[in-house]
Amino acid sequence: MHSAIPHLIDLQHVDQQIAALRTELDSFPRRIREADSKLNGARAAVTAAKEALVNSQKERKKFELDVEQWKDRARKYRDQSGAVKTNEAYRALQHEIANAEAEVAKAEDRQLDVMMLVEEAERRVRSCEASLKEAEREVAGERKEIEARQAEKKKLLETALADRESAAALVPEDLRELYARVGKRHNGTALAEVRTEQCRGCGMRVLPHIIQALRQEANEEVYRCESCGLILYTLEPVTAPNPGGPSGNAVSSASSSS
Ligand SMILES: [Zn+2]
Repeated sequence: MHSAIPHLIDLQHVDQQIAALRTELDSFPRRIREADSKLNGARAAVTAAKEALVNSQKERKKFELDVEQWKDRARKYRDQSGAVKTNEAYRALQHEIANAEAEVAKAEDRQLDVMMLVEEAERRVRSCEASLKEAEREVAGERKEIEARQAEKKKLLETALADRESAAALVPEDLRELYARVGKRHNGTALAEVRTEQCRGCGMRVLPHIIQALRQEANEEVYRCESCGLILYTLEPVTAPNPGGPSGNAVSSASSSS
């Protein structure tokens, strides 16, 4: 296996960390928006309660005017009653007065009802405003927590980026370029472990002579999966270079013994 592969494994590991951290960091603005949107319902409730209050206040005003109007009418009829000439006209006026007074009483009843509605609407506004305040406190706490997590992840990302630089520095440039190229095609993954004679990237069988070559410490060749193209490595024990000859011989002898 190429001697830089362990550094490449480190690089891949830190790159995966970086990708996960970036994905998580990208989700924070949405999380903050979601927390804030919890206030929408409470805000709408306050607006609706205030509207209901204004409407009930208008109603109350209307019934106040009704009471005044009927009182005025009753007064007018009573003023006229001194001037009437006939019993019939007097009786008719008395009737009008009684009628107007009945209307005053009715309007006053309605006014009382509507005053209760106004009070209820006022109570509702107060309770909705209290709920909104409570929700705002809760959301502020949640936001603080999210922002603290965000700051924490940002710090981890900075550390990971620094780690990446030191890991990358240990990998020769051509291999680094290959790693970047392969990773680009495979969603950020450039390496695949060979285990139980299979490429763990795609599950295809890896030929024995390649496995043997990966186990050779002196082999500076880079092997890629024939099926998926990922750079292969093995975590199985690496054998010492065969003192008997070049790596080509070592490979063929090793494969024949397996
Ligand atoms: Zn593969």
